[in-house]
Amino acid sequence: MSEALAATPAVPSADPCTGSSSLTSAGASRAAGLVEVMRRRKSAAPTPAEITEAQDSLERRIRAHLAKGRVQVTLTDNRYTMISVRRISKEKRFEVRLHHMFADADPVITRALARYIAENDADASRVLGDFIDANSDHVRGRGRRAPAQVIFTAGENYDLRQIYDEINARYFDNRIEAAITWGARTGRPRRRNSIKMGSYSVEDRLIRIHRSLDRAFVPRFFVAWIVFHEMLHQVHDIRVKNGRREFHSKEFLADEEQFADYDQARSWERQHLDALLTY
Ligand SMILES: [Zn+2]
Repeated sequence: MSEALAATPAVPSADPCTGSSSLTSAGASRAAGLVEVMRRRKSAAPTPAEITEAQDSLERRIRAHLAKGRVQVTLTDNRYTMISVRRISKEKRFEVRLHHMFADADPVITRALARYIAENDADASRVLGDFIDANSDHVRGRGRRAPAQVIFTAGENYDLRQIYDEINARYFDNRIEAAITWGARTGRPRRRNSIKMGSYSVEDRLIRIHRSLDRAFVPRFFVAWIVFHEMLHQVHDIRVKNGRREFHSKEFLADEEQFADYDQARSWERQHLDALLTY
């Protein structure tokens, strides 16, 4: 959030968060054996053969639909992030982390994965979203409940996973456990009165970043600042003060200033508010 702007309601504000959201993340399926192996596994231990085989097999099936580029698949038992793509453009390589629900995916799904990975294809996103919804009862710690939130971390310009990982290591000792995703795409660009640049759902441990920030003119430090802010929400409980929820306590704001590019981010936001709000 940007407190200065929000404090002057007459001015259009680009408020990154309100702290509330009804989104849910979820996903998952497959042979119980593989899941068992995955859950027993210590992270430092070498990958068991069952998992390696499942990863190799999925890699081959995705590659069959890829025109070019290499893909490397890691299966996860993650509770929050179902798909995470890292593009290593120099090497024309994609590092893809997929929930194990994808291990047995049929050709329709592997083709959608390939198109999502290589082209960020919108139709492919929808197919994958439906698949995740249909398999959400296989996600650890989640029963058959609300539909899945599709997690897409790779944007046109920025990979949120990369930014999140860097910030988590640098500021939080890797202790933040949340999913992060770009928000939904919107229609034609228009001038808005406000944009919620980011949000954090406590219930779902899900950070959502507005697509408006995934544009070439937005500097990486600014995206990182918004991500940092949302991650801070996991550290600071939302308190009730004078009968109202207080999302940004004094302590929260003090911590926020610890961000290395804090001043730069605030001043960039002031200067580019119009462009940010036109999306
Ligand atoms: Zn906030």
